[in-house]
Amino acid sequence: MIIETIIERINQGKFWHFHGGIYPSEQKSITSSKPIKQLSLPKQLVLPLQQHIGRQGDLLVEVGDKVLKGQALTQSSNPMAVPVHAPTSGIISAIKKSVIAHPSGLSELCLFIDVDGEDTWKKREICQDFSKLSHQQIIKKIADAGIAGMGGAGFPTHIKVNTKPGINFLIINAVECEPYITADDLLMCEQSEAIVDGIKILDQLLSPSFILIGIEDNKPQAIKALQQATQHHEKIKVCVLPTKYPTGGEKQLIQVLTGKEVNTGTLPINSGIVVQNVATCFAISDAVINDIPLIRRVVTLTGSALAKPQNFWALLGTQVSYLLEQAGFVSEVNKTNSTPNSPQPSPPVPSPPVIMGGPLMGFSILNEQVPIVKTSNCILAPSKIEMPSAFDNNSNEVECIRCGQCADVCPSQLLPQELQWSAKAKDHQQLMQLNLFDCIDCGACAYVCPSQIPLVQYYRVAKAEIRQQQQLDIKSEKAKVRFEARKLRLEQEKIARQEKHKKAAAARKATMNKKSADGSTANSAVAAALARVKAKKAAEKIINSNEPLASSNKVTDEISPVKVAIARAKAKKLGKQENIESSLNSNKPLASSSEKQAQKHSAINEQTINDKKARIAAAVAKAKAKKFQEKKSSTEQNELSIETQSEKTSEKAQNITTEAEDKKARIAAAVAKAKSKAKLKAIEKAQQVSTTNSEEST
Ligand code: SF4
Ligand code: SF4
Repeated sequence: MIIETIIERINQGKFWHFHGGIYPSEQKSITSSKPIKQLSLPKQLVLPLQQHIGRQGDLLVEVGDKVLKGQALTQSSNPMAVPVHAPTSGIISAIKKSVIAHPSGLSELCLFIDVDGEDTWKKREICQDFSKLSHQQIIKKIADAGIAGMGGAGFPTHIKVNTKPGINFLIINAVECEPYITADDLLMCEQSEAIVDGIKILDQLLSPSFILIGIEDNKPQAIKALQQATQHHEKIKVCVLPTKYPTGGEKQLIQVLTGKEVNTGTLPINSGIVVQNVATCFAISDAVINDIPLIRRVVTLTGSALAKPQNFWALLGTQVSYLLEQAGFVSEVNKTNSTPNSPQPSPPVPSPPVIMGGPLMGFSILNEQVPIVKTSNCILAPSKIEMPSAFDNNSNEVECIRCGQCADVCPSQLLPQELQWSAKAKDHQQLMQLNLFDCIDCGACAYVCPSQIPLVQYYRVAKAEIRQQQQLDIKSEKAKVRFEARKLRLEQEKIARQEKHKKAAAARKATMNKKSADGSTANSAVAAALARVKAKKAAEKIINSNEPLASSNKVTDEISPVKVAIARAKAKKLGKQENIESSLNSNKPLASSSEKQAQKHSAINEQTINDKKARIAAAVAKAKAKKFQEKKSSTEQNELSIETQSEKTSEKAQNITTEAEDKKARIAAAVAKAKSKAKLKAIEKAQQVSTTNSEEST
């Protein structure tokens, strides 16, 4: 739709409609007729370091530091980190985690300031004419002032307004559609000129074609004040809209004013639209013109449990308990049980609920010590009659009857009942498909639900879980990327190192192979000399072990060359091992500690194996030598034995010979004796015969 058509419709008082919406009881009259009240300084302020969407800044102060009003307490170069400032002068008494205003009751890092009561300002520079400031100067002033969207979202303003030219509409959200809340209403009534100054600064930054201030028709005083403040600015149009909840939703307001729908996954800037809250415009004016950072805001204290409901200028960091006290917090319980003359003390009763925000988008706070932050616009303390459900700790939730009323009123055209089932089932995938993040937490669905299902609570928990999971996924993805990068780097380093070693080895080899004057290479000469020395040593060792036999044994002399060859082989192995060790030693300066360790282990292992091998070889050689010695001893003994035996045999033979000779001699002697005896007998016989014959002759 062309811009002129839109403006023509607006001039005629015609607007578009968004889907759904509700018309709850407004209850704004409780505070809308009372001026904004200045509070006396509290004794202590508690400032969460992060009060916006994004990141917290780095601390600029420490415990014990004296700080001045408006002094920056954090800073960061990250654009998503918005600084916080001291709302008044005092001493930093603590920096610790403390409960903050959040539906989950979580704790965040907070600065505790003990207020000195002097309210001493830092040095400020008032800007007399902001039209002379450059684009970047204005952006810097907004960023340094720590301004974040004050309508509830808390998005850093300096990012949202630092956009390229070509903006069709700058929309100022002055709708404040939630029941009970009148903070913006009163601000517009009392500070319309300052708000318009802020709008002019934005105009200077963004140069939009038109500026549309959207305001509901239930704020007549504010409408009048704005119309007066803008009457001489043709470009600015105060658009009075019919009251319907939640017209103040960013997408809903854009649709009502321009007829444009901002689709899922897109931003208003994509349609040439920037939206800023009316309180943010006031903060911009304060920052750029008066050099006042965002240190205060208007807070509505309302509800029937308050004796003096009113809007207050509250310093950021003011504890809710202090504000409740100023507003005359009188609990329903105290009222009903206040019986001064009763002899019996009143029975203990549960504390009445206190809600941060409005009745539809707010949440109960469990601890009244939580502080006001940049996005806190209302503290609601209802009575039991006013909001009975807030007093009932037991859930009245019953089964969904599929009436479809929640879908009928949903301004984001979602399916609240299906979202609820998926949230209960923790089906995150299905929740994303149902566009859970298009839900603006308006609470319209829960408001109409006949089954009293706290639908928004389910959505909030589901959103928190999904965001947490996404954070974990991002962290895990980053860790994975870091791991892969490290792995790649180590591999590259390893390859580079190997290449370097290769080159160094080649260079060494070339040097070693360089021919000497006698024609031999240095390498071969040294290696041969080493081998000879080692072989000699090994041979000497073996020979020494066999010394007693070596000199006299022929067999040993025959085996010695074999032993020498074995020794030479061992020496060669030893030489190789030494080469490896020297190679490792030469790599030491290049290797990383883990690789050095690995190489060292490898070298030790190899050395251990080689030692073992050497020991085995030595044992084998020793065993062989022993065996050989034994064999030799055995041979000697055999020979000795044979000799002995031979000698014995010889002796025996001699003995036998002697005996035989003796016997023979004896036999010969006997024979000779016998012969001589026979001869003697023959002679005697012959003598006898002769005698006889003689006798006979005689
Ligand atoms: S309004 Fe309640 S009961 Fe009806 S469909 Fe929705 S969730 Fe179910
Ligand atoms: S689903 Fe979300 S956007 Fe829709 S009505 Fe419910 S709270 Fe509002």
